[in-house]
Amino acid sequence: MSISLLKNEQFQLYKGPLLPLALILHTMKSFDVPLVYRSPLISAVKKKRKEKDRMKKDFSPTLLDFGPVRIFLARHFGFCYGVENAIDIAFRTIEENPGKRIYLLSEMIHNPQVNADLEASGVQFLQDNSGKQLIPFDSLTAEDIVLIPAFGTTLKIEKQLRDLGIPIEKYNTTCPFVEKVWNRSEVIARSNYTIIIHGKPTHEETRATFSHAASNAPSIVVKDMDQAIELGKYITGELPSEQFYTDFKHQVSAGFNLEKDLQRIGVVNQTTMLASDTQAIADYLKEIMMSHYGLDENNIKERFADTRDTLCYATNDNQTSVTGMLQTEADLAVVVGGYNSSNTSHLVELCEEKLPTYYINNEEKILSRDAIKHFNFHTTMELVTENYLPGKEPVNILVTSGASCPDALVEGVIKKLAGFYPASRSIEDLVDILNNQE
Ligand code: SF4
Repeated sequence: MSISLLKNEQFQLYKGPLLPLALILHTMKSFDVPLVYRSPLISAVKKKRKEKDRMKKDFSPTLLDFGPVRIFLARHFGFCYGVENAIDIAFRTIEENPGKRIYLLSEMIHNPQVNADLEASGVQFLQDNSGKQLIPFDSLTAEDIVLIPAFGTTLKIEKQLRDLGIPIEKYNTTCPFVEKVWNRSEVIARSNYTIIIHGKPTHEETRATFSHAASNAPSIVVKDMDQAIELGKYITGELPSEQFYTDFKHQVSAGFNLEKDLQRIGVVNQTTMLASDTQAIADYLKEIMMSHYGLDENNIKERFADTRDTLCYATNDNQTSVTGMLQTEADLAVVVGGYNSSNTSHLVELCEEKLPTYYINNEEKILSRDAIKHFNFHTTMELVTENYLPGKEPVNILVTSGASCPDALVEGVIKKLAGFYPASRSIEDLVDILNNQE
């Protein structure tokens, strides 16, 4: 038995319009990420897959065959471009500025280990995830450093920091794929469309995107299909206008005019939403505009901007890889990532449609061979499930992780699972096999 790259030609899927930007950025830059986040096993797997599939067309999983336990590792997972860029800048800033006060606007990325490591290095958070102030801005001085996280921030906060004399450009880790959404919104706005943002209203990135979009055009955040349907009823006049500002409280830009501002619309999204959800919402709203205004495919542009989804390459790759991985018959899936990570929760959502799925943030949540403590993101509660591993051998387990999860955590999870089976090969043996494989 050996490590193998499972072939599945079916997964010659996605490569949309974001690929060129992704390729350009990847070929131009490499990042200095602390070794503690890396994993020899995962690095060897990723290197091998990259060599064999440079164009990223094969979305089948990698089999790590330990013998009594077989791990099917998703083709793409773990740190994305934006996260590596942010981590690189943050740790370099700490190193180059001894003695300076260094702040982060909020969590750097949605991973508890990375955020804890930054705090342990002396970095302080100015706000929590929901934007609640932890340290007042007026206690900052022009001598301080403020890092803007990968999600970006609002124009209001950018201005507040500039007014304090804090140079934000040098320490801005906003991901270029988030900025791409802002640019797309600007293009839509220039053609007088109202911007509909499919995203989680309280998520840092959506708050930032909403702020940038609203500076160019009337904007509204729609969190899910239920809200899209509701919005559709305001477009057709089925719901009374007075109710609109209550239903979309805190999700609509100042001065939004219901009569005027829903006549021409375009949809963008938070970069980490579920691709199929955004597509369904855009299709639904397009349909509403067609039937309400008597339009067809030839003239729908009069009312509905022709936008593709604005998911980033990592979200697309990771979700497509999960779809590929789910073609494999397995007993359970383990998804590793921060519990407030939007992109990770969508990977869980895809897996749990098909098989028992356990969302954990590190290997310590695997309590024993018989019990696992895992997160239910629907209820936002952790719970313990017993007998999560079937009695049979070999056990087939699908494994993936979110874009802000260090590979070292995934290796820790794999190691722990394999450790429950005394006859398992060691990780070191698997790395050797992988490194010597043609
Ligand atoms: S998930 Fe996408 S948008 Fe977010 S930081 Fe990573 S590459 Fe950028």
